Amino acid sequence: MERDRRDPSERQDRIGKGSEHVAVFQDKIQQLLGPEASDLEVALGSQPPVSIRLNATKWSLPSKDPVPWCTSGQYLAERPAFTFDPLFHAGCYYVQEPASMLLEQAFLASGLSGKDIIALDLCAAPGGKTTHLRSLLSSSSLLVANEIDRKRQFILQENLWKWGAANTVICGSDPRDLDRLPEFFDLIVVDAPCSGEGMFRKDAFARAQWSPALVQHCCGLQRTVLQHAWQALKPGGTLFYSTCTWETAENEDQMAELIAMGAVPIKIPVEPAWGMRMGVDGLGLRCYPHKVRGEGFFIAALRKPGIHVEERLIGPLTDNASQPEMAAWLNEDRPWQLVEHDQIQFAIDGQHITNIRSIANALRVLSPGVPLAEKKGDEWRPHAALALAGDRSTNVFPEIALSYDQALAYLRGTALPAKDARGTALATYNGHGLGWLRGAGNRWNNLLPASWRIKAQRPIAPNVPWAPSHR
Ligand code: SAM
Repeated sequence: MERDRRDPSERQDRIGKGSEHVAVFQDKIQQLLGPEASDLEVALGSQPPVSIRLNATKWSLPSKDPVPWCTSGQYLAERPAFTFDPLFHAGCYYVQEPASMLLEQAFLASGLSGKDIIALDLCAAPGGKTTHLRSLLSSSSLLVANEIDRKRQFILQENLWKWGAANTVICGSDPRDLDRLPEFFDLIVVDAPCSGEGMFRKDAFARAQWSPALVQHCCGLQRTVLQHAWQALKPGGTLFYSTCTWETAENEDQMAELIAMGAVPIKIPVEPAWGMRMGVDGLGLRCYPHKVRGEGFFIAALRKPGIHVEERLIGPLTDNASQPEMAAWLNEDRPWQLVEHDQIQFAIDGQHITNIRSIANALRVLSPGVPLAEKKGDEWRPHAALALAGDRSTNVFPEIALSYDQALAYLRGTALPAKDARGTALATYNGHGLGWLRGAGNRWNNLLPASWRIKAQRPIAPNVPWAPSHR
């Protein structure tokens, strides 16, 4: 669903008042579901399930209630105060609606598991699908996460940096710019802006802004985004298309247009017990909350006709690193190459340097790799994202292990008392990097970016069940 941020009066001109359209929406659902429409209405009035997806490279948690279609997904009994969990800030898990974790089944069906590919998540913020895809792809695959909306680019960047995986490029371009990258990607995910019917239970705003005009508007956006995505896909490449709406015009009809251009549907196998329903005309999968333990969701997978040529572009391993010694801040398991971009030193997996150059020639690159250091005056300081990077070497910076309460104080931006504190140190919680500290004698100054800090004073929900005292 795309939140409409324009002035509300202007918005109403175009899409009208949500409440006037209830009957239209109910009619459509009646046509789709027949007698089950009332079950859906009941489900839409119930509490949504809460779920998280673990970052297996950082953390594990025995599962009492797994999301059956996602190996790293877990339901929680109630919604806790995630903000007051240091592990949440350390990128150990992502809070995500369960139905959208079906991406994993689409990925399995695509046959791309274990292959080194170039993938694009075109409508990526805040990063739910991107972090999931990153965990599914081989670690040598290159993943480009793109988001057109400037404000949403910040949260995408924060979430991806905290997830901490290498070979992830963050971009902020209009999908039309993909025309400069014809037949470039092996896999493209379009999690499209949509009319958001599937979020009616979780988000009152989604219900209020719905109208037939919004559906029409979204259809136009989706068609444009898909056209540009399609030509950026390699022959033989795979497209995943998803929305959180039940509108046929936004789902199967969009797929039918690509099928008319030669696209071949890929069946996504699911267990009957999970409750998904086949899409209209057998295209894709639909999730309804009265059948599936999750919100409304649609997903389809298509293959572009043509022969897929397996190729890996291996780039030269030389570049203009102004601070080559910083390569030692990372583990040596990749042929790192350092590049400077917008006053930040980034480390790039050298085997993708040619690919990343091509991407940078076409799209607005925000973050080409693992951020190592940023320039403050004449000095290079470790970048906030390096603290959370999975490839960070553990032998370079001294670590200060924080208790739960100290970690929360750190995450609020507080300086920590110290004796003879000098240089730069890493604040950790349960072995997970949170951010940087700067020694100033009797205290450690807090270098956590202001926008990453906890603003709320105290939790209004119970603590996460894995917090030490579960207060
Ligand atoms: N994939 C995200 C996730 O799983 O966290 C959610 C994506 S949300 C459904 C759709 C995204 O499309 C929004 O971030 C929105 O800013 C973006 N968007 C809106 N208009 C767009 C357009 N014309 N082209 C591309 N993306 C657009």
